[in-house]
This record gives sequence, C-alpha cells and structure tokens, in this order.
Amino acid sequence: MTKRVVLIGHPVAHSLSGAMQQAAFDELKIDARYELWDRAPIALGDSIVELRGDEFLGANVTIPHKERVVPMVDRLTEEAQATGAVNTITREGKRLIGHNTDVAGFKIALDRIVGRQKMPRQAVVLGAGGGARAVVYGLIREGFQRVIIFNRHLHRAEGLVKHFGRSAAHMELRAMPWHDSIIEAELAKTKILINATSIGLTSDVTPVPAEALHGDLLVLDLIYSNTRLLRDAAAAGATTADGELMLLHQGAAAFTLWTGQPAPLDLMQAKLAEARAGGLRSAEGEPTGEPAAAAAE
Ligand code: NDP
Repeated sequence: MTKRVVLIGHPVAHSLSGAMQQAAFDELKIDARYELWDRAPIALGDSIVELRGDEFLGANVTIPHKERVVPMVDRLTEEAQATGAVNTITREGKRLIGHNTDVAGFKIALDRIVGRQKMPRQAVVLGAGGGARAVVYGLIREGFQRVIIFNRHLHRAEGLVKHFGRSAAHMELRAMPWHDSIIEAELAKTKILINATSIGLTSDVTPVPAEALHGDLLVLDLIYSNTRLLRDAAAAGATTADGELMLLHQGAAAFTLWTGQPAPLDLMQAKLAEARAGGLRSAEGEPTGEPAAAAAE
C-alpha cells in the first residue's frame, strides 16, 4: 500500500516541501506520496482525525495551523510542548504524536549565520506566530539573555512571553509595541534580528525601515526568499541569510521521523533550489523570488 504524508495548511499551493519530500521518498525507494491539503481552520479537526488511518505515515503542519493543532494530537514531544506549536505529526498505531522540527532547523540556521563569532546574547524577533515560537525557544536554549519581541498584535506577543514565562525566568523576554522608533532603538543595541512574520512573503515590503538597520547586524529572515528586508540589510553592510537552511533541516528532520531513515540532504537541497529556480512557491503558496545574494555561507 502506498503510504501517504500530507502538508496541512491554508493555502499550500505549489509547496516547496512537496518537491523536496517526494524526491527524498523516491530516492530511498519508499513507497509514499506527499500530498498538499489546503484546509481552512474550520476543517483542521476533521483532517487530523483522518490522519489516524493506517495508510498515513504522518503530516507537516504549516501556516496558520501550527498552534491550533496542539490540542488535537495525543502526545507532544519536548520541543512541541515547549513551543506550543507543532509542524510535524507522526503516527503510532492510532495515536498521533506532535513534533516541532522548526526548532532543529532554526538552530542550524542560527549557528550558520553566527559562524565563528561568539554567540550573541541579545536578539530582536519580529512576529509571534508558530515560527516565532520555535525561534524564541531556540534563543532561550542557546543562552540568550535579552530577547525583544515585536508583533503587529501586541497581545499575541504578550501571550508568547507568558507561554515561555518559566523557561525564560532567568532572562529578559519582553513584548514591545510595534513602532518604528522603538524597533530602531532596540536594533541599535542588538546584534541579531530575526524576521518571523510573513511580511515580505507575498509582496516586496519590509517590516523595518532601512534606516534602522546597521552593519553590525546579523539578519535572518525565515522567509525563503531574498526579501526587501534582506536586501536593505545587505546594503547597510549587515550579514544576512534567508529561510532556506531552516526549511531544509526542518524537512530533513521530519523525513527521518516518518521513515526512520537519514534524509538525503543534498538531494533535498537541490530540489529546493530547482523548485525555486523554476518559479515554484514557498510552503505557504506564495512567490519565493531570487536567492538572497548575501546569504551567509
Ligand atoms: P503564523 O501565521 O503563525 O504567524 C504569522 C506572523 O506574521 C504573525 O506574527 C503575524 O502577526 C505576522 N503578520 C502577518 N501578516 C502581517 C502584516 N501584514 N503585518 C504585520 N504582521 C503580519 O505563521 P508562521 O509563524 O508559521 O510563519 C511566519 C513566517 O515564517 C512565514 O513567512 C513562513 O514562511 C516563515 N517560516 C519559515 C520557516 C522555514 O523553515 N524557513 C519555518 C516557519 C515559518 P499578527 O499576530 O499580528 O497577525
């Protein structure tokens, strides 16, 4: 029986994950099909129930469901519990296990952009959704001492801070209102800026005015594209990276969870690049644009 793995999101058209996961199944001769399920929030519960069937290896979960799906699975791994977000589901019999492989993907992306420098201790995070939760958890685990979160809807950032209350008790984790002047003041004393909003995903807009960026910054945009933020940051002399490494490694970790086998990383990376060059779209079904020119190696 051909096994099934599904990406559940809204929208999910032209997913990059599909290209890399199907190629990985085929390469390892695993009889499985990666399907895209576009499901509005109201249909999420029924989709999760369906996953309990024998033909399913599991699922990926993306925008906007990563937090909503948490109470719908039977068990959470440590990362999923700690972040309050699930991006990967596996099945054990009829039981569904919620994982968060964005955490592992983010760690690799963070290590890469920091390179040989000393790991900074202060960061500014834009966004408070599922992706931001993996980022904030990663920064806490990395020993950051001050992390400031800006989000369009302040209450969501405050909810995120509250969620991490105990694990962040030793450090300063704060939500601040989204004002250009406050963001600029925070960036002036910060080494790392992470964009975990979807601003820049669908159109060429930036969450931060170019004047607020400076040459000492390391700027990581989770969007898999050379966004305006990354271009402005590179022009200011900053080191930049897009979401490619995170996307690749969260996908590789998910592949191993479903199949028990090491992921063919080089092939998956090549498939991502191919899909991008061919004008394919991001995991959320939007244009990805050109690779980040100044992406950190
Ligand atoms: P969510 O839907 O959970 O969160 C979206 C975030 O973007 C929220 O903070 C939201 O703010 C903000 N936002 C959306 N539109 C606007 C807008 N017009 N103005 C201001 N803020 C806005 O999504 P995720 O956290 O799952 O994903 C966020 C981004 O990160 C996406 O672009 C996704 O592609 C990327 N991502 C990349 C990954 C990778 O592997 N490279 C992994 C995970 C995410 P508000 O709460 O106020 O609505």
